[in-house]
Amino acid sequence: MSGNELREAYLQFFAEKKGHLRLPSFSLIPQDDPTLLLIGAGMAPLKPFFTGKMKPPRTRVTTSQRCVRTGDIENVGRTARHQTFFEMLGNFSFGDYFKGEAIPWAWEFLTEVVELPKDKLWVTVYPDDDEAIEIWKSQPGFPQDHIVKMEDNFWEIGPGPCGPDSEIYIDLGEERGCGSPDCAVGCDCDRYLEIWNLVFTQYDKQEDGSYKNLAHKNIDTGCGLERLASVVQEKKTNFETDLLYPIIEYAAGVAGVTYGEDAEKDISLKVIADHARSMAIMIMDGILPSNEGRGYVLRRILRRAIRHGRMLGIKDKFLEGAVNAAVEIYRGAKDFEELVNKADYIKKVISLEEDRFAATLNQGMELLGAEIEKVKAAGKTALDGEVTFRLYDTFGFPWELTEEILHENGLELDKEGFDKAMDEQRTRARNARAENTRVAVPDLSSIDVSKLTVDEQATAGKVVAIWQD
Ligand code: ATP
Ligand code: MG
Ligand code: MG
Ligand code: MG
Repeated sequence: MSGNELREAYLQFFAEKKGHLRLPSFSLIPQDDPTLLLIGAGMAPLKPFFTGKMKPPRTRVTTSQRCVRTGDIENVGRTARHQTFFEMLGNFSFGDYFKGEAIPWAWEFLTEVVELPKDKLWVTVYPDDDEAIEIWKSQPGFPQDHIVKMEDNFWEIGPGPCGPDSEIYIDLGEERGCGSPDCAVGCDCDRYLEIWNLVFTQYDKQEDGSYKNLAHKNIDTGCGLERLASVVQEKKTNFETDLLYPIIEYAAGVAGVTYGEDAEKDISLKVIADHARSMAIMIMDGILPSNEGRGYVLRRILRRAIRHGRMLGIKDKFLEGAVNAAVEIYRGAKDFEELVNKADYIKKVISLEEDRFAATLNQGMELLGAEIEKVKAAGKTALDGEVTFRLYDTFGFPWELTEEILHENGLELDKEGFDKAMDEQRTRARNARAENTRVAVPDLSSIDVSKLTVDEQATAGKVVAIWQD
């Protein structure tokens, strides 16, 4: 089954066989939810239905929700199972069915529709959840000793609906494990792959951290489409499934490298594949690169992808092609028409940002390289926060990017020093305004920046910075 077919199979199973209303994915931008920067789970846009704040269109809903988790960014390419962008398949009950249905239906889908081998499946449960244990044990063909009690089987993101959960894992075989004698379900290595989380939502976490009972019990489940695809398509990582691999092939082609020959290069290829999808979908949802909030997340992802391109030896612009590959993956898939329709716009935004960063990346890398040598020569372990700030301010290096490069060199980032330099600059700008100094900022609104040469764009950006000083 292709990734697109798997998504359909899941949604059809819950819509047609189990009476759920199929809704399209919600935007990545949370609506009326200041606690979240980006949607990172299928249940996030449905919070008002769980809390009872809004009446759901039906008490059973199923979606394939597009998600971004920046918390997983450093894992991308290093584990087999994490991307920043992924789709979370989910079935939800708002005061309708509970564990007695959610568990058997998950078992039925995995073992009968997708036909995963029963003896390879494992589940974890919250330690005192005897009810869930009983239900699991009564599933046809369930391997009776494949249940593990785990203290951290409690799911929550920020304030809102939450509760104990039960996760489904597949054992991919000893040869995929870390080799440790303690390796078991829950181990962070690649042997036991978590594919689905069933959350028995019965509490409402308050802003002050306390828990209230919800008026009714709910079900919230999340199953990673790319992970399921990796199992069904018998691939070693999510990146080799048809949902990501075409972008790897494209990037490898541009770089003139072969996937699978060099571990470090593979990481860069995987980062580019993941980040290309992330940036395309974020821009599709109306996010633009900027220096704060969601725009900053996008900028960081974009610039990180460009840097990994450089690490592979790619000198020219390459992200538009990566986005083309991403668009082709989703062509014809429901929920992704907008990606296809907005492809030209998305590429324009990306191309502009690529020009902007390319103009300063080499200079910035040179400066950073020289500074790293100095730090090492002096026998110090961290780079001065001032330098990180200069890289950010003049060369557009997100501090996280500098930190990664430092880590690759066994050095630390002086975050305090960076924050201090940032604060100082803010204070200077504020004082300048307070003293009524004329701060001349060129009016770029009437200029089509995309028509400027790369140098002119860089200068336009710099002029603003210098004049504000
Ligand atoms: P892990 O422990 O592997 O990081 P998780 O417990 O953080 O996963 P959940 O929050 O339970 O994940 O999300 C539900 C499901 O979404 C997971 O079981 C998995 O299939 C999928 N998923 C979560 N994070 C990612 C990611 N970064 N990339 C791809 N799929 C993911
Ligand atoms: Mg996680
Ligand atoms: Mg987990
Ligand atoms: Mg989980």
